[in-house]
Amino acid sequence: MIREAVIVGAGLGSRLKDMTKDRPKGFLELDGSYLVEMSIKKLLEHGIERIIIGTGYCSEWYEKLAKKYPAIETVHNANYAGTGSMGTLEVCAAKVTSDILLLESDLIYDSVALFTLLNDHHRNVVLGSGATNSGDEVYIAVDENIEVAAISKKLEMVGKSYAELVGISKLSYKTLQAMCSFAASHHQDMPKMEYETALVGAQKMGEHLFVRKVNYLAWREIDDASHLEMATKEILPRIQENESIRQVRREVLLNPGPATTTDSVKYAQVCADICPREEEFGQMMRWICDELTLFIGKKEDYETVLFAGSGTLADEVMVSSCVPQDGKLLIINNGSYGQRLAKIASVYKMDYEVYESSTYEAIDLDALGKKLDEGSYTHLAAVYHETTTGLLNPIPQIGRMCHDRGIVTIIDTVSAFSAIPIDMERDCIDFMASTSNKCIQGMAGVCFVFCNRKELEKLKGEPMRNYYMNLYDQYQYFSKTLQTRFTPPVQILNALRQAIIETKQETIEARYTRYTACWNILVDVVKELGLEMLVKEEEQSHLITAILEPQDGKYSFEEFHDLAREQSFTIYPGKLGNINTFRIANIGDIQPHEMEQFAQFMREYFRK
Ligand SMILES: *Cc1c(COP(=O)(O)O)cnc(C)c1O
Repeated sequence: MIREAVIVGAGLGSRLKDMTKDRPKGFLELDGSYLVEMSIKKLLEHGIERIIIGTGYCSEWYEKLAKKYPAIETVHNANYAGTGSMGTLEVCAAKVTSDILLLESDLIYDSVALFTLLNDHHRNVVLGSGATNSGDEVYIAVDENIEVAAISKKLEMVGKSYAELVGISKLSYKTLQAMCSFAASHHQDMPKMEYETALVGAQKMGEHLFVRKVNYLAWREIDDASHLEMATKEILPRIQENESIRQVRREVLLNPGPATTTDSVKYAQVCADICPREEEFGQMMRWICDELTLFIGKKEDYETVLFAGSGTLADEVMVSSCVPQDGKLLIINNGSYGQRLAKIASVYKMDYEVYESSTYEAIDLDALGKKLDEGSYTHLAAVYHETTTGLLNPIPQIGRMCHDRGIVTIIDTVSAFSAIPIDMERDCIDFMASTSNKCIQGMAGVCFVFCNRKELEKLKGEPMRNYYMNLYDQYQYFSKTLQTRFTPPVQILNALRQAIIETKQETIEARYTRYTACWNILVDVVKELGLEMLVKEEEQSHLITAILEPQDGKYSFEEFHDLAREQSFTIYPGKLGNINTFRIANIGDIQPHEMEQFAQFMREYFRK
């Protein structure tokens, strides 16, 4: 699996004259976007976690870009004017830790280029295309194994051209090191070495370097004004058409999970088969656990444990694993999911009590405090965000009340995690459960429990109430072996990895802002239409809204649902005792303009 990319972007771009007077080539604009930024988005969409950019000329442009993309790290080649692209690659190589994709900064390309290289079974692959007739070709000649024989701008130097060099390659860590040692031995005689020369040099030193040719690849390197014009008029429209053909039909899910996902998360499931017992896969699961942990706290203090299953499984893991035999659990029930926690405790015949509270009004914290003082509770279980109604429970306050009394907290954050910023230490949460298919915006099938390490360690030696769902047993086994005790859903985990990359890019704070923007649009139209919400605005989560069904005899949920569905919106009924509501969730990869479209649909439906 390739996780790192290097972009060499130090060059002066002098052939572009005035266009690069104030900026590096990568910042030429095409259709309102920077060349290099288009490339960075594609890399992120293809599962690249870390992008190292070698800068030189006008490096401040890259530094500014790095602020917008947490995955970017810049390294400056101070001697950029005196070296070629290899000098910049040498500076970057010091930061590289694994196999890489290597790219030039002045390229536009169809993302199928990345897919092809990432899926090629050779470790070292140089991407080639059919004839471009661009007037600036770099030719590649190959031997009988389709390995690189020569690379040159001069056709006579390569003899017979097999393909044209695109400027995107996949290289093993070892080959990159070989290129660097080749370059180091030629610093004197070839100070301005291009990386292509080092590629051929590494090949001569015994590295195997294959060429993968994609005949009709849409791509263009931009070195002068005529290239820019060609890119704008011919190449970019082709790329856009190709990429739009590969888009998955858009469905906007306004149900409370599974949530709408990006195409890149969907496509992440299409990956090479792998035995999950391979070290590589174990390392990926380790990465997933660590990155999930970093969203909620420090790795030294918290740990994330993965399970195969939906959110309910994670709830059952917590309730059945976190309360010792002699413990006593208080469960707050103010909605379906609180009730579910109580149901789980009853199935395991645990020592528990239920604290009932209104399903649509805020919990009375004074009364809860009294309850906590009365019983000798060791643990408290509650739901952060009651997805049934959209009621947000004041978990940080409840957590504080519990910790002040030495009570361990077990929180269902299935529909809150990755939307509402949570800091487990600050919010006094010891264990919390969530799932891959809600606000983290992955596919259904994986769930996880975040654990306060100290509390997790206390579970050692506790009799197990079940096997598959035992938290400590899974934690301990995974820590030792990097394996789960069961077959993990490989493709779903790949999708989760992609969803994490995208969450890191967006940040949880910005995601909550986006969700809130969508919610505001919804609330505005609800009020405009004179509809009523079940929960007071200030007590809502901004993630899901329960709206009372109109008493008008002409309204039918089925009709409303079916008409919405025709416009690719999926909505959800919600019954709460004898109160009929319909529910609109605004979690997932939903943009405000789509919520506007839904708002317009509601206007038309309810006015009629
Ligand atoms: C969705 C949800 C669950 C259950 O998750 P499943 O994936 O359907 O098992 C549990 N708790 C809350 C708060 C939820 O929103």
